[in-house]
Amino acid sequence: MARLIVANWKMNLDPAAAIKLVTKLEPKIDPSERVEVVILPPSIDLYPLDETIDKTKLKLGAQNIHYLDEGPFTGEVSAAMLKGVIDYALIGHSERRAMGEDDKLIAKKVAAAYRNGITSIVCIGENLDQREHKLSSKVVVDQLTADLALVTAEEVKDIVIAYEPLWAISHGDGKGRHATPDDIRAVLRAIRSTVEDLYGEAGGVGMRLLYGGSVNADDCMAYLGMDEIDGLLVGGDSLNYEDFASIIDASDRENTD
Ligand code: PEP
Repeated sequence: MARLIVANWKMNLDPAAAIKLVTKLEPKIDPSERVEVVILPPSIDLYPLDETIDKTKLKLGAQNIHYLDEGPFTGEVSAAMLKGVIDYALIGHSERRAMGEDDKLIAKKVAAAYRNGITSIVCIGENLDQREHKLSSKVVVDQLTADLALVTAEEVKDIVIAYEPLWAISHGDGKGRHATPDDIRAVLRAIRSTVEDLYGEAGGVGMRLLYGGSVNADDCMAYLGMDEIDGLLVGGDSLNYEDFASIIDASDRENTD
């Protein structure tokens, strides 16, 4: 299976800067590599990028969607509006949960994505306090179960889960702690086995699982060597095209499937 490598640009790069970055990144990507590369830019960049990118090398996704297709929701953008431009939508990122998104809302956004033919990348992860109280797996499994509440066994095969422990995310300040594979293995296994419990073995095998949290060009190999994951979600380091290209390249080299 091709590895899935996702760039979360967060609130960085206006359309001109976005086009500049992909123009430098694309020549470094070999389309024959067994890697699916997805860029999640700010929503204002989506249309100009859609007209610019080489679609044999890059796909686009939104950093957020609304759970309804249209209506009186000032400042929001719906999956129905983005359909045709994006293949993926990030849902439930911890930076959005911190602004008040809860699991009920996240479950409705996952349903909206599916309804519009868009693949959800659902983010789950525990904070440092929860980890120190040995609650990581419980917190993450509870989030996962609630976030998938509206997903059927047929639909789960099209869902991507991103495990992003909050204590490992850099938030652009370089303060994220680099998790070791041993720090995250048990939680990743708990995620896969929860999906199997909920949807049967086929659901667990079909669902793609990513890791994210301060991943960079230097330490990506450690994660890519893990059997538990199918790819990476990269924040800060995806803003550097050379580093991000190295991560893509490493993903193909480490793919033993
Ligand atoms: C993220 O917030 O989704 C993320 C992966 O960020 P970073 O890589 O900067 O920790």
